Amino acid sequence: MKLITYIYENKENIGVLNADETRVIPLSSLGIDSPSMNDLISDYTLEALVNTVSSQLDNLDVNTCSISLAEVTAAPPIPSPRQDIICLGINYWAHAEESARYKKEAFDRDRTYPIYFAKRVNRAVADGEMIDSHRDMFQNLDYESELAVIIGKPCKNATLDNAKDYIFGYTIVNDMSAREIQTRHKQWYFGKSLDEFTPMGPCIVTADEIPYPPHLDIKSYVNGELRQNSNTELLINDIDYVICELSQGMTLLPGTIISTGTPAGVGMGFEPPKFLSPGDEVICEIQGIGQLKNKIK
Ligand code: MG
Repeated sequence: MKLITYIYENKENIGVLNADETRVIPLSSLGIDSPSMNDLISDYTLEALVNTVSSQLDNLDVNTCSISLAEVTAAPPIPSPRQDIICLGINYWAHAEESARYKKEAFDRDRTYPIYFAKRVNRAVADGEMIDSHRDMFQNLDYESELAVIIGKPCKNATLDNAKDYIFGYTIVNDMSAREIQTRHKQWYFGKSLDEFTPMGPCIVTADEIPYPPHLDIKSYVNGELRQNSNTELLINDIDYVICELSQGMTLLPGTIISTGTPAGVGMGFEPPKFLSPGDEVICEIQGIGQLKNKIK
């Protein structure tokens, strides 16, 4: 199922999309009283949630209990993550190559260990909302289309065999980046954590809907021009490995978001680079999840 957070009559709600994705069924009308997506993920295992929703839907007339999407405003699926997002750096070979070229470093193929960093998100940006360019601080604004994994239950010492059992679902994250700030501080936290630097959405697709491991086309477009075009099967460090490694000695709590890295074709990868300017439209797209569309202000 596809879960969304939306605003209706000035109130933030959570719901599930109907089959043709034109209407949202409020989870409250299915007897689920979790007030937010964070609460829902903590309150229910994925199995219990799927069972509750499907048995309730059997007894309801969807048309009478649902709201047209035209009447609601999109919110990010997890508007305010409870913790910083855990991000993977340089997790596709072709992006590793373009990144080394931009930084004028030699491209080695040494990726013995994944690069992890954090991204602060006070408030994520919904599909259709604007992204602040922070033009007064820097110029080299970049986009990164990424598959994000959402952890569904407390995860400690996962194994390669059972790592997938901890996944609640998937969404799209645009890991917006200030390249000058990233380079200047020799770490990525600040340059990727500015306000409005985490477009997220348009929905969470629950893990039961996507064959595992997810081999999904991942793309981005700027003003209609295809920039990134890859597949999540090309992750250097795959989802099993990352969940397994991160959960050794560190508990991943329900609602943890792990953004798995971006493929080649970001702005800094072009010669000359193609950074974003106010007015540009960025679309991040992942097969089976949808499109996340935002304009730069
Ligand atoms: Mg990234």
